[in-house]
Amino acid sequence: MAKKKIIAPPVLPAITSSKPMAHRTQILTFGQYLREKFGCKVSKVPVSISGFTCPNIDGSVAKGGCTFCENDSFSPSLDKAKPLKGFFLNLQSPTNPYLEQQLQQLQWQFETLSKKLSCDHGAQKYMVYFQSFTNTYAPLETLKALYEKALSFENVVGLSIGTRSDSISEETFAYLAHLAQTTEIWIEFGIQSIFDETLVKVNRGHDSASVQAAIAKAKGYGLNVCGHLIFGLPNETKAMMLQTAQAAYDWGVDSLKYHPLYVVKRTALANEYGRGEFTPITQECYLEVLCEALAMKPSHISVQRLTAGIDDNSLIAPEWCKHKNEQLHAINTALKGIGLKY
Ligand code: SF4
Repeated sequence: MAKKKIIAPPVLPAITSSKPMAHRTQILTFGQYLREKFGCKVSKVPVSISGFTCPNIDGSVAKGGCTFCENDSFSPSLDKAKPLKGFFLNLQSPTNPYLEQQLQQLQWQFETLSKKLSCDHGAQKYMVYFQSFTNTYAPLETLKALYEKALSFENVVGLSIGTRSDSISEETFAYLAHLAQTTEIWIEFGIQSIFDETLVKVNRGHDSASVQAAIAKAKGYGLNVCGHLIFGLPNETKAMMLQTAQAAYDWGVDSLKYHPLYVVKRTALANEYGRGEFTPITQECYLEVLCEALAMKPSHISVQRLTAGIDDNSLIAPEWCKHKNEQLHAINTALKGIGLKY
C-alpha cells in the first residue's frame, strides 16, 4: 500500500493562543440548523439541469464567465448537465421544448443521489439543491415546473437555489416568497468580494452593490440567504478578505460558504497563472483569514462549507487544495487554537 502523503502542519493563525482551551465553542453548521428545524438528518441533493446557463457566459452580461469558472468542477458527478442541441434558457426564452426532459433528469438525479445519501450518510430528509450554473435564469413557468417537481419528491423539505444577484426577476422572488410560506427556501448568491476592482478583475459581470441589493430584497421577501465568499482573489489583501466577510455578516446572510480560490484547467485564471500573473493563496494565509472571519461571525449565521478543492487532475494550483481531509484537519487544528470547533 502506498504511503499516505504527509502534509507539513500549517503555521497557525496569528490569533492562536498557546494555552489549551477548556471549552470550545461549536460553530453552527448548516447540518445542525437543519437537524434542529426538522428533527432528523437532512441532506442537500445537488442537481444539475441541462439547458441552464449563466448570463456571464451567454453574452447577456459578458462572455467567458468568471475567470475561475469551469462549471463542471462544481457540478455533481452524476449526469452532468449536457447541452441540449445548443439550447439554453434565459429570462426571455419564449418556449422551453425540453421541459419534460429536464423534469425527468431532475427526477432521476434526485432518486439516485438521495438513495446514496440515505445509505452512505443516514439522510432521512432532503433539500434539493439547484447547484450548477444560474438556476433562476429562466422564465418563471420553467422554474415553477422544476421547483414544484422537486418539492413533490418524497421526504423533500425544501429547496436551495444557486444564482446570481442580477439573474432573479421580481416575479420569481414573489413566487419563491409564496413557496416559502409552506416550505424551506434558500437562495445562494455569490458574493465573492465586496471590492469592485476585484469583481472586474475576475470578470464577475456585476458589482458589489448588486449583491447587497439582491440579498436585501431576498430577505425582504422572507427568503433564507446563503452567501459564497472566496478568499485569495487576485490582488486582495487579508484585510480586504476580512472586510468582505464583515460586509456579508452585516448584509444579513443566514448562512455562508467559505472557499479558497484555486486554479483549474480550461479557465482564464489558468492562463493568468501560467503567465505568472496570479499567485494562489497559501494554506497558512487561508487558515489565518478563515479563523479571523469565523471569530468575527455572529453565532446565528450557519456555515455550509469551510474550504473547497478538487481531487483530480483538473486542479492546477495550489496543491494543498487537492487534499480535502488534510485541509479539514488543518482547519480543525487552527480552530482549536482559537477555541472554536466545526
Ligand atoms: S456566475 Fe457562476 S456559473 Fe456564471 S460564470 Fe461565474 S462562476 Fe460560472
